[in-house]
Amino acid sequence: MSEQQHRSTEPFKAQGFETRAIHAGYEPDPTTGAVIPPIYATSTYKQDGVGGLRGGYEYSRSANPTRTALEGALASLEEGERAFAFASGLAAEDTIVRALCRPGDHAVIPDDAYGGTFRLFDKVEQSWGLEHSPAAVSDVDAVRAAIRPGRTRLVWVETPTNPLLNIGDIEALAAVAHEAGALLVVDNTFASPYLQQPLTLGADVVVHSTTKYVGGHSDVVGGAVVVRDLETADAITFHQNAMGAVPGPFDSFLTHRGLKTLAVRMDRHCDNAELVVDFLSRHPSVEQVIYPGLEEHPGHAVASRQMKRFGGMVSFRVTGGEAQALAVCERAEVFTLAESLGGIESLIEHPGRMTHASVAGTDLEVPSDLVRLSVGIETADDLLADLDRALSGG
Ligand SMILES: *Cc1c(COP(=O)(O)O)cnc(C)c1O
Repeated sequence: MSEQQHRSTEPFKAQGFETRAIHAGYEPDPTTGAVIPPIYATSTYKQDGVGGLRGGYEYSRSANPTRTALEGALASLEEGERAFAFASGLAAEDTIVRALCRPGDHAVIPDDAYGGTFRLFDKVEQSWGLEHSPAAVSDVDAVRAAIRPGRTRLVWVETPTNPLLNIGDIEALAAVAHEAGALLVVDNTFASPYLQQPLTLGADVVVHSTTKYVGGHSDVVGGAVVVRDLETADAITFHQNAMGAVPGPFDSFLTHRGLKTLAVRMDRHCDNAELVVDFLSRHPSVEQVIYPGLEEHPGHAVASRQMKRFGGMVSFRVTGGEAQALAVCERAEVFTLAESLGGIESLIEHPGRMTHASVAGTDLEVPSDLVRLSVGIETADDLLADLDRALSGG
């Protein structure tokens, strides 16, 4: 491919996902040829005369070249107009709300939203004047019914959801949101852009906790917003700078380094998750396995349509109640007992007592015999042997 072609946007968009994950957003540095974006540890930039900015760089809250490279790659992989990196997933979410809503507006949110997202809407955005209603993302009619005509500005969904892995039909939900004059925001953290590109299915905004699969190595906290049109991009650009929740160059570098291997990691996460699901489905101590790749999963047909594969998250219920669920979490050794997800190492947790403890006693309470796995990319046999030992009490 000629240099000329490589620089123009159109042929670049036509390239495969893996190629874009590695090359989009950055050209080898013109002065040194550095193949990888340097960590630009600088807060400010010399101007060539007043207002004479080099490459538009003025101050690192507004823009930093290490961050720019990451943002370019994210925009390409999500097939968006622009991408914006943030200091955390929640900082990205807050910026979306302030950029796109005004006090008095209303949002529909998942009735099983990520706990931090629920807390943000309930305890922060609400006191700022944004009301919210919960609805099941797997039920398009319920989402439509939760919309307040003329007031709903955002329909916010996660798919798959956490920890029950419910599936929302992005295309149908986009139609419902647009009918009401609202925007559809999809939290794409669980699927990652490798498995699902919501903007191509009609969503207006994608949000990520890049802490999870995008970074992929459990070594950095970050977030991202990707948008499909310039008007929304302008609103996010203004608020990203005005609110200032940006990642530093070191964090941007780590996230970008992780992003380059997303495709190969995700495929191995999916391979291992499928083996784990198959193993658990045949285990006498397992009551139910929850995974969108299973035909009996209520969201299987929609997930098959909109996802490339079904992801690395697996939940299951044990026959021995909460005591056994807790024991399994504590006996596992290769699966590390920890919150979070999406890293190369396998994690196990008890949602009822850990990630979802704050919703105990509410409609969002999760079953006490539920165990959640973030299946990593270790040797599959070691993962199965570990689960077998943990389930058998050995
Ligand atoms: C972790 C997570 C978030 C929050 O992201 P942080 O990077 O922890 O701020 C939001 N949504 C989902 C689905 C998550 O898993």
